[in-house]
Amino acid sequence: MDDRQREIAEIARLVREHLEWEAGLQGAGIPFWEAELGSEAEAEPETVAAAPIPDVPIARSPIAASVTASPIAAPPAAAAPVIASPTPEPVRISLPVPERIARLRVLADGAATCTLCRLHESRTHSVFARGNVEAEIAFVGEGPGANEDEQGLPFVGPAGQLLDKMIGAMGFDRDDVYVCNVVKCRPPENRTPQADEAAACDRYLTPQLETVGPKVIVALGRVAAESLGCAEPGRSWRGMWGSWRGIPVMPTYHPAFLLRSPEMKRPVWEDLQKVLGRIGRTPPSRSG
Ligand code: SF4
Repeated sequence: MDDRQREIAEIARLVREHLEWEAGLQGAGIPFWEAELGSEAEAEPETVAAAPIPDVPIARSPIAASVTASPIAAPPAAAAPVIASPTPEPVRISLPVPERIARLRVLADGAATCTLCRLHESRTHSVFARGNVEAEIAFVGEGPGANEDEQGLPFVGPAGQLLDKMIGAMGFDRDDVYVCNVVKCRPPENRTPQADEAAACDRYLTPQLETVGPKVIVALGRVAAESLGCAEPGRSWRGMWGSWRGIPVMPTYHPAFLLRSPEMKRPVWEDLQKVLGRIGRTPPSRSG
């Protein structure tokens, strides 16, 4: 296949994706969860900066060195999303549920008393995870906000409520999926986690995700995408398939960013539909 043929094939793929996406909207023109938000879209986010900042170069590796300098969300992708070449077989630990729970409990207990980075100094509670330990989909955010720090659970504030709607629009209950963050303790003033903090907390994140072994990971925001090695220097990242230890990763905008930029819900919904496609599902009908 020459360049011209490849270009035509790519255009055909994009048109097909768009038509599939339109079909998924079932005439609504907007994602289901967008119509339900109403005034909540004006709520204050908990864990992100007020506005995106430009991309900065990073090293492409898990827990990238410049994770601190990057925003949780970036301007819309300039390039069309491209599905990466086939990834290697995921490295999964297939444990019975009780063993998964036990293993995760050990990790959570470790995080609760952890002093490996400075974030422990101001935390009320560490925030480990919520959800199904056998989930098909794991959502990975940046770090706990004020509500999460207070309750010890991830995504329980306005951003969490929006995430739950996104999950519901995908046809899942909030407890069907697994939800966690890159860092388990709240960064002061909701600042972006620093590189050494994310690196320190990887001792929890990596075994956590390995234990759950989801079919797909959704990285919520650029920090999560970078931490999972799925955002490249100076390049668009949202909607671009990546891979973490063989598990496909879809990086998309953080729900807290969507609270401030509701116009970005449409591309996020496109990303979530790709995730559904990856696990052989389609969005539920609005009537169903
Ligand atoms: Fe430990 Fe992670 Fe909390 Fe830092 S953020 S103190 S590494 S649990």
